[in-house]
Amino acid sequence: AQHFLARAKSQSDLGAYVALNEEATLAQAQAADARIAAGTAAPLEGVALAHKDIFVTRDFPSTAGSRMLAGYRSPFDATVVQRLAQAGAVTLGKLNCDEFAMGSANENSAVAPWGHAGPAPVRNPWDRRRVPGGSSGGSAVAVAARLVPAATGSDTGGSIRQPAAFCGITGIKPTYGRASRYGMIAFASSLDQAGPMARSAEDCALLLSAMCGPDPDRDSTSLDRPAEDFGRALGDSIEGLRIGVPAEFFGPGLAPDVRAAIDAALKEYEKLGAKRVPVSLPRTELSIPVYYTIAPAEASSNLSRFDGVKFGHRAKDYTDLADMYRKTRAEGFGAEVKRRIMMGTYVLSHGYYDAYYLQAQKIRRMIADDFQNAFRHCDLIAGPVAPTVAWEIGAHGNDPLADYLADIFTLPASLAGLPGISLPAGLGADAMPVGLQLIGNYFDEARLLNAAHRLQ
Ligand code: GLN
Repeated sequence: AQHFLARAKSQSDLGAYVALNEEATLAQAQAADARIAAGTAAPLEGVALAHKDIFVTRDFPSTAGSRMLAGYRSPFDATVVQRLAQAGAVTLGKLNCDEFAMGSANENSAVAPWGHAGPAPVRNPWDRRRVPGGSSGGSAVAVAARLVPAATGSDTGGSIRQPAAFCGITGIKPTYGRASRYGMIAFASSLDQAGPMARSAEDCALLLSAMCGPDPDRDSTSLDRPAEDFGRALGDSIEGLRIGVPAEFFGPGLAPDVRAAIDAALKEYEKLGAKRVPVSLPRTELSIPVYYTIAPAEASSNLSRFDGVKFGHRAKDYTDLADMYRKTRAEGFGAEVKRRIMMGTYVLSHGYYDAYYLQAQKIRRMIADDFQNAFRHCDLIAGPVAPTVAWEIGAHGNDPLADYLADIFTLPASLAGLPGISLPAGLGADAMPVGLQLIGNYFDEARLLNAAHRLQ
C-alpha cells in the first residue's frame, strides 16, 4: 500500500486519482497484515485496488466527476466495494472519470485530480498528449502506469472496454445483472454494469469472482446466479473454439492499423486451434442512435435526484424553489450532462416518445436477437474495441458526435446485456495500443476470460 501510495503521488500529473486517504488505506493494510499473520487471509488479502469515482465509498469522497457532488461523502459503501473489501482488498483511492460516466475520453470530468488545483485532463501514459479513453479513464491510466495492480470500472456503453483498449490493459464487462449496481451512481440503469480492469485476464477473473453475485435486497436487477470462480477455465485448450467475426465490425470506418492488429490476433487464435466463422450483426450501425436515445432517456430520469435538496451542491442565492432547482442544476452539471438530460427529456416527451424512445427499445430487442442468431454459428464474437487508437486531447473539440461515433463497436453488446472483454492486441499507429474485443453469450464470462488468457 505504501509503495502504491507513493507511486500515485509521484505520478499525479497523469490525473488518474481524484482522492486519496492515506490513513484509511494504511489502516486497511494493517488489518490485512493481521489476517495474513493469523492465517485467516481472504482470496485478495492485502491486494491494493482503487475504485472508479462512480462507486460510493465511506472512506473517500464520491463525486462521479461532477461539481454536483463536490465533497460528497456517502454513509455506505457500494456493494461491489464492500465485496472486494470482504475479499481482503485494500482501497488505495478513487479514480477520475467522465462526469456521471458520460464520455469516451475522460475529457468531461469537472473534478480536480489529486494534486491539481482545478480540473485537468487525464493523460494516457503511453503518450501524455493523448486521451486515456473513457469514461473509466482514471482506472485505465492507474493500472497501465502501474499506480495500482487493478481497479474497478463501470461500463454503460463501453466505459471499461474502450479505456482498457486505449491504455493497453485488460477489462471485462460481465453479463448485465451479474454485479450489483447498489452504490454505483446511476447513469443508465438498464445498461450500467461494474467490472474489473487489470493487467491480465487472470487478474480480472480474480476480481470479478469477488465482485459478482446476487444482491436481491438492494438491486432488483441483480441476477439470481451464485458467485462463480470465473478463473475456472483458465488454461483450457481452445482447440475447435468457433470465433465469429462480424463483417460489420470491419467496415471502411475501421482504421487500417487497428484492422491489421485485430487480423494478427485472429491469426494467433487460428494457430491455437480456434476456427474463424464469418457472422453478421446487421444492426451494428443502429446501435449508435439507439444507445444515444435510451441512455440519455434513463439519465434524464436518474439525474432528477440532483435537485439541491437531498444531497450535493445547492445554489447560494435563489428566490424560490423553482429558482433554486434551476440555479443548482445550471451550476452543478457540466455541458455534456446537460446535453444528455435535454436529449433524454426530449425523447421521452409526449409526442416524441413513440417516435424515438419506443422505436429505440424495439431496435434494441432486434440487436439482442441478432447476437443470438450469430451465436448459433459461433462460441464467441471477436472484433475491434474502437475504430482507432487513442486520439489527442482536445482532438474532438466541441464535437460530441465524434465521441459518440467512436463507440460503435462497444454499444451493441451493451444494448444486448452481453459480457465483453477488451484485451491488448499489439500496437497500432504511433505505437499506441490496440484492443481486441471478445463478446460472449450470456453468462459466458469464464470462456471469455480463458480466450483472453490464451493470448497473454
Ligand atoms: N461513451 C459512452 C457514453 O458516453 C459510454 C459511457 C459508459 O459506458 N459509461 O455514454
